[in-house]
Amino acid sequence: MRKKIVAGNWKMNKTLSEAKALVAEVMGMISSEVKANTQVVLCVPFPYLVPIKNQLGNSSVITGAQNCSEHDWGAYTGEVSALMLKSMEVPYVILGHSERRQYFGEDGTLLATKVNKALAAERTPIFCCGEALEIREAGTHEKLVKQQVEEALFYLSADDLKKVVIAYEPVWAIGTGKTATAQQAQEMHAVIRKQLASKYGEAVANEISILYGGSVNAKNAAELFACPDVDGGLVGGASLKSREFVDVVKAMK
Ligand code: PEP
Repeated sequence: MRKKIVAGNWKMNKTLSEAKALVAEVMGMISSEVKANTQVVLCVPFPYLVPIKNQLGNSSVITGAQNCSEHDWGAYTGEVSALMLKSMEVPYVILGHSERRQYFGEDGTLLATKVNKALAAERTPIFCCGEALEIREAGTHEKLVKQQVEEALFYLSADDLKKVVIAYEPVWAIGTGKTATAQQAQEMHAVIRKQLASKYGEAVANEISILYGGSVNAKNAAELFACPDVDGGLVGGASLKSREFVDVVKAMK
């Protein structure tokens, strides 16, 4: 059975003391309210990974980074490698978020390298794909998302692909308050799963968790998570508020 995952993407928000207060609140609510089959991940800014990891201790909530370098070590000022994440015991890493693609020019070739580095360091990539509004309006969203998946993931062996989590995040729904409908989300998740099945076979495709991201909140999460091909969420804004985030997690059945 594939894993159910709710991952919070804090982006570049919170001071360290605010971050610790948020985690304390989440931990206080989550232990009693969250089902054992849902993996909760907090993808926090790099400098907070170790303090937050220490704060989480043995709780079921684990940490993720929001990016990693395509290099292992060396003269790459400001970068953080997957091997560094491994040395900090940070299990997850978001790769290819639309903000990285848009503001930092990350493309499929670079992301393929980053996915490879994450897997080589035994980290779980949360690989993001999704179309901008003009692509959706032109009706070419399926083609684009399939191309993003193919470019970054289709060089992997089936065994390695099974270690990847995919997040479908329509760019027009990120941070806009405009969520994809459950039907739109299900359609695209099914398209991605079918694409995985055509390359790797159905058994492999059925093992891959595909998360939905784009203005998920406590009100819409249950309907989105009830879709058969939606295995959880990548949650931005709502992950910055403890009650809202825990309610999103609780919406997972
Ligand atoms: C995200 O950052 O991946 C995201 C989906 O943000 P939001 O939930 O705020 O739309």
